[in-house]
Amino acid sequence: MFDTTKIRSQFPILTKEIYHKPLIYFDNAATSQHPQCVIDRIADSYYRVNANVHRGVHTLSIEATEAHEAARRQVQTFINARHAHEIIFTRGTTEAINLVAGSWGNEFLHDGDEIILSVMEHHSNIVPWQLLQRHKAIKLRVIPINERGELDLDAYRAAFNEHTRLVSITHASNVLGTINPVQEMIAYAHEQNVPVLVDGAQAIPHLTVDVQALDADFYVFSAHKVYGPTGIGILYGKEKWLDAMPPYQGGGEMIAHVSFEHTTYNELPYKFEAGTPDYIGTRAFATALEWIEATGATEMHAYEQELLHYATAKLEEIEGIRIYGTARQKTPVISFLANKIHHYDMGMLLDKMGVAVRTGHHCAQPLMSTLGIEGTVRASFAAYNTREEIDAFATAVTKCCNMLR
Ligand code: PLP
Repeated sequence: MFDTTKIRSQFPILTKEIYHKPLIYFDNAATSQHPQCVIDRIADSYYRVNANVHRGVHTLSIEATEAHEAARRQVQTFINARHAHEIIFTRGTTEAINLVAGSWGNEFLHDGDEIILSVMEHHSNIVPWQLLQRHKAIKLRVIPINERGELDLDAYRAAFNEHTRLVSITHASNVLGTINPVQEMIAYAHEQNVPVLVDGAQAIPHLTVDVQALDADFYVFSAHKVYGPTGIGILYGKEKWLDAMPPYQGGGEMIAHVSFEHTTYNELPYKFEAGTPDYIGTRAFATALEWIEATGATEMHAYEQELLHYATAKLEEIEGIRIYGTARQKTPVISFLANKIHHYDMGMLLDKMGVAVRTGHHCAQPLMSTLGIEGTVRASFAAYNTREEIDAFATAVTKCCNMLR
């Protein structure tokens, strides 16, 4: 039995009330909550080990540097990267993709080249490539989905041609929950000599990710969706790519030597970490990863799947509900609409009943256009959610439907 009571007791925010109702937090795909140990680690770092990293000879700076670099190794182990220097700290998934677009894209893409994306991408994996289009005549090829919200793999294979230079694809959709067969997709791309960037923002909280087994060239995600702090993201890149890429931003730790005539750059990973890093955040992220390991990632993932199936069945019982995204492999994310009820109205009423869900286009407007809708209500689960909360949520949705119809 998965002990949710024990888990919940470690998340202080879950005792909060919203409009005098117990908070039911179903907005985990946007950001997850933090266990006490992560919150404590942030305070502890400020109390005991705050000094700028990498630059000091004094004890405090050395301790802060060691903690920061230990966090890098913790991330390396978590995703099974070959080297710690293949882990670049960024501000989040978005910055990590912008880094690859800005650095790799500028170095390796030329007029006429093509990038394969899918229709279910988050704006963070669309707009950085469009920004590149302002300087280079590159083309974006978009893979469609079927009626279940699964990628059309025939269309994927057919999208390759002699101009294809990169595949940039989400591991899991933040709207539909669809888990894409990225290992298979990477293998196919590599047969064509095309590297692959995987947006792991929605996968990393719910799947065990092994970047070497996947053979991903780049894998990116955000700490705040996986029980870690905001403002920390990870760019994993294969050493051969990161070595070949120019710096993305200048200043601070990314230099080897600076003169007005000629500047040389630091080695990996520092080449891509200009300025003072968020070493308080990286340390707290390491604590979040330790917490996941101690709690049992596999057990958490299995339990989240149970919640997904339970909640799906509950919602399907309610008349007029339509679920968007019925892929065979899904993360615990349910997007839905109820008859003609506007998603904002539903979201606001649910909030009055203590239920936090996300409404709108979820930063996936091209997907919304494909589905022919403006937005959805999205409920997304984490390991601290319960069946009782889902029962209360289903009752609240039914009430909303009766009130708004
Ligand atoms: N990619 C996906 C699939 C996401 O779900 C999100 C956030 O919801 C992002 C990228 C952007 O993440 P961040 O805002 O942490 O950079």
